[in-house]
Amino acid sequence: MQFVLFGPPGAGKGTQAKFLSEELNVPHISTGDILRENVKKGTALGLKAKSYMDKGELVPDNLLIDLIKDRLSQPDCRKGFLLDGFPRTIPQAEALDEILDDINKNLDGVINIDVGSGELVRRLSGRRICRSCGASYHVVFNPPKAKDICDACGGELYQRADDQEAAIKNRLNVYVRQTQPVLEYYKKKNILIDIDGEKEIDEVTADIRSMLADMA
Ligand code: ADP
Ligand code: ADP
Ligand code: ZN
Repeated sequence: MQFVLFGPPGAGKGTQAKFLSEELNVPHISTGDILRENVKKGTALGLKAKSYMDKGELVPDNLLIDLIKDRLSQPDCRKGFLLDGFPRTIPQAEALDEILDDINKNLDGVINIDVGSGELVRRLSGRRICRSCGASYHVVFNPPKAKDICDACGGELYQRADDQEAAIKNRLNVYVRQTQPVLEYYKKKNILIDIDGEKEIDEVTADIRSMLADMA
């Protein structure tokens, strides 16, 4: 099956993606994680993307579309995939439709995790990320067992540059201007599924589970 996890920065996409990709038995494809990997390795893509990411701007569409085309053509995506952080603009959504057409697949659903802006600021400003595996924690809402150490892999936790206050504001504005219109695009196609993302992590997970059960 093919799903998109949609929602503003800090909604909980990465947090929910882990169980969801296991449950659906498909790879979790986070464009943010892939871009951060490229920045870390200093690839050509990473060098082009870094300045946009640090400011909280979107990386240009053509770079993202090439990245996703390449990733979705890998053999592990034949059984389906879970996209997290893509598409974020209308041109990206249109490009995804073309890619899906070419491989004779369609989207089973776009799961929109709905969270208000006050809560997003609280989540983003306390977020910590694992340097090794990308797992996402929160200093208050979802703390690791040992301070600054990843439960899953023992890696070191850090705060992303774009989770500092100035960049957070910009990212939320960018979301409203450039990404929110994509919701309407999928609503028209009748594949948008709204989930209340303000609940506790486990409750959101349970709601997504029951939504999947209803679809089956
Ligand atoms: P968050 O989890 O906070 O929503 P991501 O990790 O998904 O953020 O993305 C981090 C940054 O990577 C974005 O602010 C943007 O600069 C870039 N990025 C990720 N996905 C995309 C995309 N689909 N289009 C453009 N830029 C992207
Ligand atoms: P996204 O990938 O959508 O940007 P994350 O999954 O990284 O969001 O979550 C953002 C922050 O909020 C993280 O610090 C995470 O631990 C925390 N978080 C995620 N879901 C919830 C929730 N339902 N309640 C409280 N905090 C949450
Ligand atoms: Zn880790």
